[in-house]
Amino acid sequence: MTKVYDIQRSKLRWLMALVMLFSLVPSALLLTVGVLVLVLGHATKDVVFGVLILGLASTLLGGVVATVLYVRRETTVARLQTEFVSKVSHDLRTPLTSIRLFVETLQEGRLRDPDKVQQALDVIAMETSRLSAMINRLLGWARMEAGRRIYRMELESPHRVVETALAAFEPQRLTADVTLEKQVEPDLPLVRIDLHAMSEALLNLLQNAFHYTGPQKHIRVSCRRYGKQVAIAVADNGPGIAKKDQKRIFEKFYRVARDDAPLQVQGSGLGLAMVHHIVRAHGGLTRVESELGRGATFTIYLPAAAPAEGR
Ligand code: ADP
Repeated sequence: MTKVYDIQRSKLRWLMALVMLFSLVPSALLLTVGVLVLVLGHATKDVVFGVLILGLASTLLGGVVATVLYVRRETTVARLQTEFVSKVSHDLRTPLTSIRLFVETLQEGRLRDPDKVQQALDVIAMETSRLSAMINRLLGWARMEAGRRIYRMELESPHRVVETALAAFEPQRLTADVTLEKQVEPDLPLVRIDLHAMSEALLNLLQNAFHYTGPQKHIRVSCRRYGKQVAIAVADNGPGIAKKDQKRIFEKFYRVARDDAPLQVQGSGLGLAMVHHIVRAHGGLTRVESELGRGATFTIYLPAAAPAEGR
């Protein structure tokens, strides 16, 4: 017989039992006393007293419910974080193993053909840069979470954000059959942004559109005025996202479980959380619109700078 002991679940069960004992029971008693005082009492002071007791009991109950919901949420995040750590360790080990194998082969002089030596060196270089990209991403996220990411805000044209992200996306785009459409309205207002951070957010959306679409990828990037904001959107022809998942995909570590094998993308569940974080730091919002089977559109809304600011 095998048994898995989930320490977090067991702690949570204990905590719930304690909350029940020390908060729910007194609140229920208080509620009963309040109702009794209201029903049985006749004097004005009884009514005041009863209302006060009921108010106290409901505040206590509200507090208990809020605490339970908060603790449950934090426990879920803690579980996802543990899964994330083991996944990241695994992801880091894969390139490290191949680097170690190639280095050993070279050290032992088993490769004599200069072409083969070059190939081995190329793999080592590629895996090393993959490792460093993964580590940079993790460090970037850690900085953001700790509130230590510094944004250098400048007045920029939204057009530049789109161009910078598309230029960074180009090498990946060339690796598959991608139809890329671009629609940027002329005369858009300027936005006050950190160009590097905002392009990184847009690049994340482009990469997701790339990863989560089938073999014929259709991606449309658009940029338009939306009232006092500028809306930058990335739409794709992928499988879409169910309504229940749309509420949660911006949470850190949250990933949608997918049955369709080609779309089971390796990921960390941090991409959209980073987008959300960066856009919020600019006073903007990120929205997703999607229907299952009909693609997804992610839109970043940024406040337009006042015309006087642009002068
Ligand atoms: P990751 O891609 O590393 O899993 P993200 O935070 O970027 O993490 O995305 C969270 C989840 O949202 C993904 O697991 C994926 O299922 C879903 N998702 C993101 N972008 C798209 C998209 N364009 N189409 C369909 N699903 C998407």
